[in-house]
Formats: sequence, C-alpha cells, structure tokens
Amino acid sequence: MTSLATRSCPSKATVFDPSLDDLREKVASGQRLSLADGERLFATRDVWSVLQMAHDVRTRLHADAAYYNINRHLNYSNVCALSCKFCEFYAKQGDAKAYVRDLAYVRDQARQAVESGATEMHMVGGLHPTLGFSYYTDLVSAIREEAAAAGSDLHVKAFTAVEIVHLARIAKVYKGASIAGDEGRALRREGIRHVLTKLKEAGLGSLPGGGAEVFDDRIHDEAFKGKIRSDVWLDVHRCAHELGLNTNATLLYGHIETRRDRLIHMDMLRKAQDEALARLGYAGVASTETSSQKPGTQGHLGYTPGSRADVITLTRPGTPLPEHVVFGQGKSAAPGGYYQTIIPLPFIPDGCDLEHLPGPGGAENYRTLAIARLMLDNFPHVKAFWIMQTLPMAQVMLQSGADDMDGTVVWYDITHVGAASTHQEVTTGTLQRLIREAGFRPVERDTLYRPIVRDGKRWSVAT
Ligand code: SF4
Repeated sequence: MTSLATRSCPSKATVFDPSLDDLREKVASGQRLSLADGERLFATRDVWSVLQMAHDVRTRLHADAAYYNINRHLNYSNVCALSCKFCEFYAKQGDAKAYVRDLAYVRDQARQAVESGATEMHMVGGLHPTLGFSYYTDLVSAIREEAAAAGSDLHVKAFTAVEIVHLARIAKVYKGASIAGDEGRALRREGIRHVLTKLKEAGLGSLPGGGAEVFDDRIHDEAFKGKIRSDVWLDVHRCAHELGLNTNATLLYGHIETRRDRLIHMDMLRKAQDEALARLGYAGVASTETSSQKPGTQGHLGYTPGSRADVITLTRPGTPLPEHVVFGQGKSAAPGGYYQTIIPLPFIPDGCDLEHLPGPGGAENYRTLAIARLMLDNFPHVKAFWIMQTLPMAQVMLQSGADDMDGTVVWYDITHVGAASTHQEVTTGTLQRLIREAGFRPVERDTLYRPIVRDGKRWSVAT
C-alpha cells in the first residue's frame, strides 16, 4: 500500500505546516487532542498532514483491514409527526406517498435478506403518531423469526434515539419530560430503559447512530426543532450501553453549524465513550483539561466543568479494541455496551427546506472525517458511509482515517445524493474491488465488527 507520506504531492512542499509538529507527536503517542488542537486541524492549509495523521491512527488500529458488511435497509414507515427542515423522507398521514409496512412485508424482506446472504437488517422510520408499541416489538421479532426459520441469523440494528423516545411516549412510560434536573432525568431514563429492554427481548441487537445531527441547542432548535436534544440522545445511548447493546453515532455537518460545533459534538461523544469503556474495564488516565462544554450546556452526561471523568483512548499503541475485549478468548456473549463507529454525514441540500445552503465540498468532507478519527480517539471505527459520501469519495476516505465502507445496502430512503434513486446497492464483489483498489484488504464483518467466514449465502463468525 502506498502511504500518503510517500506520495509525490507537488503542492505538499508549499503547504506543509511545521507548526503542527506538536500535534503529530500527540497523535503518534495516542494522547487526547484538545478542542484547540482540533481547531488548528480545521484551520491549517496543510490538509495532507491532517489526512496523514488520521491515516496513521487508522493503520495503528486496523492495519490494512477495511471492513464492509452485507446488509439490507428497511424503512417501516415514512409517516412522521415531525417536519425536520433537512428531511426529504417524511410524509404526513393521508399523503399519497405515505406508507406503513405490515408484518407480511417485513417478513418477506427478512426472507429476501437471508437469501441474499445478509447478516444485518438496518431498520429506521418516521415517528408515526398512532401505531402502538407492540407494532415495533412485533417488527423485530418477525425479522428474527424469519431468519431463524431460514436457518440463519439476521442482526437487527434498529431505531434511532429519537424513535426510542417516541416509543417510550407511545408506550406511556416516558415520564418527567417537564421536570427539570436529576429527578426528571431519572424518570425519563426509566422509560427509555423500559422500551430498550422490551425491544432487546424481542431481538434487537444494536442501535444505529442517526439523529445525533450536531449537539448544539441553538442549531437544534433552528434546524431540527421537535427532535430530542443532545442530552436525551446521549441518555438513550447510555441506557443502551448499560443494557449491553452496542450503538453507533453520527455527525451531520455542513449546514448551519460551525466547525467548532463539530468539535464540541465529537468531544461530547468521546466523553460518553469514556464512561462506556470504563464499564468494560478499561483504565483511564486523569485528564488535566477543564470541561469544553459551552456555557449553558452544563449537565450533559453529568459532567460539570473541571470534573471530567478519566480519559480513555484506544489510540495508544498496543491498546486492545473493545470487540477484542468483549469477544476475545472464547467469549461468545456480548456484555457489550459501547460506541462502535462514528459516521460523519455530509449535509445534502437537495429537496429539503435547507436546500438554499451549498453543503460541504470534497475537501471539507475529507478533513472532517480525518478530524473525527483524530478527535474520537476512543471510537474503534470510522465509517465512510458511501451512500452519502459516494463510492469514489469513500474509497479515498479509507486513506483519510476511515476503516469501514458500510455495506451492500438495498434501499435507502432517508436521503440520497443528487438525483440518485432511493434504491441503492452495490455487490459484494464491487465493494471488495474498490477496497483493494484503494490499497486495503477487504474484511467482511458482522454488525459487531467480528470478521465473517462465508460459504456462499451461509456465514458464521470467525473464531
Ligand atoms: S428526520 Fe426523522 S424525525 Fe425528522 S422529519 Fe424526518 S423522519 Fe421525522
């Protein structure tokens, strides 16, 4: 594999930024970067050095492996009580394009997924105002039952945090929304935990990372009004982790937020991951930093300024990845409970209420993904989500910090690039070829990042 460092880059001589040397040293030794460090990475003209540092980190964690999976996407309904400005997916009840999938449809989709060799069903939808809670547990059970009947397994990764809160509301267990402070929070968490427990019993395997957008209340209220704010989003994921469910996280960037807002978002996520990894037994080092939360946002995650939890990084040479800690040495059960992947998502303006905004360009996409790899030092994986980044961009992102290309994906309705069809799919062969072409070794994984051994449509986790 040709590393960025050895490439002939005519512009590098003119943009090489020696003032980043202290950051190069911090990255090489796996030290946590501060928000100020992140701002320098955004400000420098030397994008190549930023990509190189991120590439070094991903190589330290994953060598030449680049992960992908065989998956199917299912949107159970596009009917939504909310009308987020950036969303071109939702419909209102009675609209011509409104739909709700019944169990027969879902079972058929699960069968087709198994027949295609999929290991994962990724399922999300709108916040339907009238469906009862049992509809959702039935959805999950139906998928698992169909897969089992076909002699296989299908991991159900489903329901973003805002959907989980919606389900807690319709299950009438979401109390305390109007009660401030710890008392209200404890009541809300009780409802969230109840819903997650029921879904887990039905067969839910993990949560996707959607709906995080960018953790800033001002931006949230302007662009995502009605959706849950960051404190609740993080609480849902923390409850999932405590129940042994792994989750992912997204960052939707390139709309009305600032680069500093992105960094704060990353910082809040890595603090949440510090807690999750501590529960798995990772030892931290005391942080000398003061809190980086904005004034007025104190209270997220229970941190208060100057009293941060210990810092736990995975980027120090020799640190085991959580999947190896959880599944290593003959362990088959997943006590789980941590963030697996950060998925930076570029804002795509087409067709939504914010379409007057230009959206991020290619250089900004690379830089943001690389900085996510560098700042989120305790996230094992960074995904180049090809559906939104495009396949050619995702290929190069494998050399800019990403180690995962996501999956073969059939149907993706939530958003799509330009005039692309909502039916998006690549074959396994294409993904493997693109990964090799980018200089990496394709590794098929399951949802929990365990390598897969495959015999045609049949698969098992490698031992
Ligand atoms: S983003 Fe989600 S919550 Fe917002 S309108 Fe679209 S489907 Fe509804």
